[in-house]
Amino acid sequence: MPAQRIAILGATGSIGASTLDIVARHPERFSVFALTAHNNLERLFAQCVAFRPEVVVVADGQRASRMQARLRDAGLPIRVSHGPTALCEVARDAACDTVVAAIVGAAGLKPTLAAARAGKKILFANKEALVMSGALLMQTAARAGARLLPVDSEHNAIFQCYPEQARLRGGAIRLILTASGGPFLNRPLETFDTITPDEACAHPRWSMGRKISVDSATMMNKGLEVIEAHWLFAMPAERIDVVMHPQSIVHSMVAYADQSVLAQMGNPDMRIPIAHALAYPERIDSGVAPLDLTISGGLTFMPPDLARFPCLKLVLEVVRGGRGAVALNAANEVAVAAFLNGRLGFRGIPEVVEAVLERLPEPEFSDLDHILEADRRARKAAEEAVEGHP
Ligand code: NDP
Ligand code: MG
Repeated sequence: MPAQRIAILGATGSIGASTLDIVARHPERFSVFALTAHNNLERLFAQCVAFRPEVVVVADGQRASRMQARLRDAGLPIRVSHGPTALCEVARDAACDTVVAAIVGAAGLKPTLAAARAGKKILFANKEALVMSGALLMQTAARAGARLLPVDSEHNAIFQCYPEQARLRGGAIRLILTASGGPFLNRPLETFDTITPDEACAHPRWSMGRKISVDSATMMNKGLEVIEAHWLFAMPAERIDVVMHPQSIVHSMVAYADQSVLAQMGNPDMRIPIAHALAYPERIDSGVAPLDLTISGGLTFMPPDLARFPCLKLVLEVVRGGRGAVALNAANEVAVAAFLNGRLGFRGIPEVVEAVLERLPEPEFSDLDHILEADRRARKAAEEAVEGHP
């Protein structure tokens, strides 16, 4: 069998690194066609030495020149491109079969759409893209015969418990997304004003990039995942539940009409869903330690506390009440960036998002120009809300 040729968009991030870990374990199965970074040239260079891609993409021309010089000095014949157009070119290049969509945030939307239009197998991590463009991305993928294989652990769990054949027959009545609750599940509410970026990024179970770590601490992440599950599995949002499960062993569940509930379990390590999606429908070694339930100290489940996690409440209003998903995502990206660089307190994140949702009522969008325009408007409104925040 010829090796699967892979383009990893966002190779220098947490998902990118976990993907390359699996690739390195199975050199006979996978070859790396392209790696993309934004700013982290050091890590990209080390990945080039280890994986010898044909092409790399970086943020801009200056970085591309620096990278080109380093690769030339190291005797590595690797093409270097830069910018958003180059990301799309790599994503649709005929020389790759599989695209790993692991850029964080709205920046991943256009390249993911390009991969979908080109009918690629897409390992899908970049949930912000789907939140922004759900109908458009799903329709584009369906028309072009692209396959979206979820890498987000909850959605990968649902994919495993609710395979495509079962989806054609129907019969699942609820999706149950588990949530660890992040670092602040038990932190006294009166201390939330003093939460620092490093505290918010210190997730007790998962090691992830900083933006998604903050989203996990506010539980906006789980809200975005409800929207993601709605699109990926064509399930009405009212039939998607969120359940707190601090141990992060059960990654999500599917309830069927006869009240059978199927769950997928594993140690909390993203290499499991990534290995599953890369090899699907086969199974390969992920390098993760075996799960030993006898030492897990018990599995517990409880309902989410919406007063503690107002971001989750806001998302439920968006999905159930028709408020804007593009505005929600853009406002959250701006608010999280402002929190991470010290311009906004932790409690300010849901306040900024709510202010933007109130200011910008939004219809459903089915074309890219309208989505990008709504994204720009919401980012501007969110910047103003951050500036005006006490
Ligand atoms: P990281 O922050 O670790 O990595 C982000 C990647 O995107 C880096 O390679 C970064 O490049 C690149 N990047 C950032 N901004 C841009 C831009 N404007 N244009 C092009 N590339 C850019 O994030 P994660 O790996 O944690 O997350 C990636 C995606 O996967 C997110 O959408 C997240 O929600 C999703 N996800 C992540 C999980 C996890 O466990 N980490 C779990 C489930 C989903 P550089 O570093 O070189 O600047
Ligand atoms: Mg997840």
